[in-house]
Amino acid sequence: MKIIGHEKEKELIRRFLDKNYDSYTFLFEGKPSIGKKAVALQTAKAFLCEKNEAFGCNECQSCKLVLNTISNIYENEEVQTHPDLKVISPENSKEIKINQIREIIEFFKTKSPTGKVVIIDEAEKMNVEASNALLKTLEEPPEKSMIILISSNPSKLLPTILSRVKKIRFKPLKKEEIIEILKQRGLDEGKAKKLAVLSEGSLEIPVAILNNEQIYKYAKDFYNLIANQDLHPEGIITLAENIEKLEIKEIILILDIISIMLEKSLLKGLIKLNIYEKFIDELKKAKTALEKSVKKKLVFEGLYFNLKT
Ligand SMILES: [Zn+2]
Repeated sequence: MKIIGHEKEKELIRRFLDKNYDSYTFLFEGKPSIGKKAVALQTAKAFLCEKNEAFGCNECQSCKLVLNTISNIYENEEVQTHPDLKVISPENSKEIKINQIREIIEFFKTKSPTGKVVIIDEAEKMNVEASNALLKTLEEPPEKSMIILISSNPSKLLPTILSRVKKIRFKPLKKEEIIEILKQRGLDEGKAKKLAVLSEGSLEIPVAILNNEQIYKYAKDFYNLIANQDLHPEGIITLAENIEKLEIKEIILILDIISIMLEKSLLKGLIKLNIYEKFIDELKKAKTALEKSVKKKLVFEGLYFNLKT
């Protein structure tokens, strides 16, 4: 898999690797779905490479095994993965628990001549016990080790963790890069361009729409209801019922898409600034309510009626 974008970030990482430190602790931070994990895996490949070349020579035994790990993660292929590379992420995409950190501590106990790498995806989801358990390892990193934390919300990490990692800030992707990535995934130019308009520098919304086209449809329906003041109460009731069937994460993306649509309308002069600000404010409130898991349908109906008046 070819990484598109993040040339500067990769250059910076390579400069650190050239220092040949015995151990590394990184935090890769930036918007969700921009390729932080893909770069983390390449960094692991570079660190473990027998020839210590660029982002791995892709030919030595170690590089081949890391490539297997990558296929295992992204393509679910059953192949022999690298024994010295461990990737952990939140259980049920909710929380990273202490038992997962204990596994890391165990993993580092046995030594390997080429070193060992742990990648912790969505690191901000570590609970307090997990964070505290990891802290000790970050304070005294094992010999020949690399730990990469990945986060799109680093302010949620403990300050004591933040102070012990080298931060690499990942910039959002450029629109052309998004188009290229979507084309690499098999989309035609037209569709890739259309989705890139909604990307805001990340693949999160395009990928969500590709997985479930209804996300875009519902966002558009809701946008039409509010922006055109095309207010039929039956419309919102049906829409709210449909939206209720979606995951909270998907609903939050719908709200994000609506925000983008509103912004574009504002720029085109189709809506007034005070209306835009009011809508954005209500969308933010709805997002907070959803995160606190107030009933989905109530949030949407509430949002609609607040915007209507
Ligand atoms: Zn290699």
